Amino acid sequence: MKLEAVSVTLRQCAKTFRGQRVLEPVDLTIEAGETMVLLGPSGCGKTTTLRIIAGLETPDTGGRVLFGGEDVTPLPIERRQVGMVFQSYALFPNLTVRGNVGYGLRIRRVDPAEARRRVDELLAMTELTAHADKPIDELSGGQRQRVALARALAPRPRVLLLDEPLTALDARLRESLRADMNALLRELRVTSVYVTHDQAEAMALADRIVVMSAGRVEQCGTPRDIYHRPANRAVAQFIGTFNRVAGVCRGDSLSTRGGVVPMHARAARDGDAVEQFFRPEDAQIVHPASAQLCGSVTSAQFLGERTRLKIDGATEDTLTVDVPGRIELAAGTLVGISVRDEGWLTFA
Ligand code: ATP
Repeated sequence: MKLEAVSVTLRQCAKTFRGQRVLEPVDLTIEAGETMVLLGPSGCGKTTTLRIIAGLETPDTGGRVLFGGEDVTPLPIERRQVGMVFQSYALFPNLTVRGNVGYGLRIRRVDPAEARRRVDELLAMTELTAHADKPIDELSGGQRQRVALARALAPRPRVLLLDEPLTALDARLRESLRADMNALLRELRVTSVYVTHDQAEAMALADRIVVMSAGRVEQCGTPRDIYHRPANRAVAQFIGTFNRVAGVCRGDSLSTRGGVVPMHARAARDGDAVEQFFRPEDAQIVHPASAQLCGSVTSAQFLGERTRLKIDGATEDTLTVDVPGRIELAAGTLVGISVRDEGWLTFA
């Protein structure tokens, strides 16, 4: 299937509802064929941004939405050529799978032979061929969401918009459908904007992620950028787990309660109070004699492939360190912690 991928540009798109600004002016470009994930906590403005792209909301005065070079701001949703997939599926219960997938083609009066060819192709791509003639209520949640995806793609949208499409599914199904969806989006190279509050989903699907909080874009970057080079503390704390090591600058070291670690904060001078951060998987448990920090295990939570340790006494905060699942450490054990050099982060 060939799709005409276009870029999507938001210029100064803000949104105010009844006098309350819920979205600060956003400037953002989603490249043609790119999958952009909007990630952030509930109420941060993800869905509002998606609805502005769709044409279901108009941005506040001055905001523009462009598809390729075309200004689509005045166009309603039916004239923007967008496909939408929702958490709630929003399928037609009285139509079969085939009827649902072909719906958009019928209302656009696509030639019946061409429509049939396209529907067959999409049913095959979404592994629904065997279910083509079933009514919707005989399908599982995962199958329903694949129907919704095929239905959104059938009219060959210029942009595909997905609002928490996997949230209603159980964990295992969510993971397998996520992989299928990823393969499909990559094969079709359709420009996609995907809203989720699930960071694993965002990491797995995105070419780039936009992290939002309280109506603002905090950072836009590749999943690796966002995870390893968070722009600020808000992003770091929202994505994964972070440990804070607070102490005092002493030359090229940072001296803290339970030890001394290499100094990474630029422009810190002797005696300055400094904070550095690291993620649980960037630390190793080592012999206390050769450790940067020493503390005692307060809890060890076995999670299968890894064990998550809580360690007190190494610095002001309780630290979280991940070790391989086979390592067993009882509460009260004195341990040494060493953080790999590239694992340290500082924020201005
Ligand atoms: P969630 O993950 O819970 O869907 P979200 O990040 O998608 O959250 P939005 O749905 O964009 O957030 O909502 C952002 C803010 O705007 C929220 O405070 C919400 O209550 C408010 N809001 C959204 N739509 C409207 C509306 N039609 N009228 C008034 N307020 C609205």
